Amino acid sequence: MDPVQWTGSIDPEVPSAARMYDFFLGGMHNFEADREAARRVIEAMPDAPMIARVNRSFLRRAVRFLVARGIRQFLDVGSGVPTVGNVHEVAQGLDRDARVVYVDIDPVAVTHAAQILAGNDRATAVVADLREPAELLNLLDHPQRRAVLDLSRPVGLLLVSMLHFVPGEPAHRAVTGLKDALAPGSYLVISHPVSEGVDAQTAGRVQGVYQRTATPGALRTRAEVERFFDGFALVPPGLVWTPQWQPDDDVAEADLGAADPRRVGMLAGVGRKPD
Ligand code: SAM
Repeated sequence: MDPVQWTGSIDPEVPSAARMYDFFLGGMHNFEADREAARRVIEAMPDAPMIARVNRSFLRRAVRFLVARGIRQFLDVGSGVPTVGNVHEVAQGLDRDARVVYVDIDPVAVTHAAQILAGNDRATAVVADLREPAELLNLLDHPQRRAVLDLSRPVGLLLVSMLHFVPGEPAHRAVTGLKDALAPGSYLVISHPVSEGVDAQTAGRVQGVYQRTATPGALRTRAEVERFFDGFALVPPGLVWTPQWQPDDDVAEADLGAADPRRVGMLAGVGRKPD
């Protein structure tokens, strides 16, 4: 499936959260400005690459969980630059008919996703901004996307390690807008870095680096993250440190954040929209 044609331009001098994350994960889709910014994050927070791996492991576990619960459609918003174990690979590996729409604000991430998805008529990628949920839903209403994602049936909405790039109330408004558009029986998957246990100096240094990107980030409290699940029922074990969410061998692979899951500094949860 073709992505929405994106007509803007990329400034390789401005670091991007998507490409910095790609660098943390050892990917190749980043520019010098991204690498330089990512190195500054690692200087302030040496665990950053480990946290990215642990987060990817959570994403894979959550997708497997949803497929086991009968979900065959995924809307992955803030999907990032494709890397090992993408949502469509995990889901379609379990059921080849699983469908995925990737959405990201970063055109490099979406262009690369579209290349990978060429020839796959059950997955597509679009450039869109979570802060504009009505536009995003409008894009999904396009015949090409409707062929992939049927919003009248349950969907797995993935907002994994991305909501901190949408500070304040706009994120809550956007998530509410998307949740309202989902059919009963849909699931919401979130991981989110939190302020709990983070020293202010480290947080300030990392935030300072992201200020130079197009999507400056902000940490939230546990209660603020929990609020995203309002109206949805959290499945066990609830909102927990990311490595603690239904751990399996995949967690061990991601080297876990060693013995202390709090070290990851990121909460994860999966909620279900009631019937
Ligand atoms: N979800 C993937 C994962 O967990 O591996 C990628 C996470 S990456 C840390 C955050 C992603 O969110 C980046 O690709 C970034 O471009 C995207 N992003 C940030 N703000 C966004 C927005 N307002 N709308 C859509 N995507 C956004």
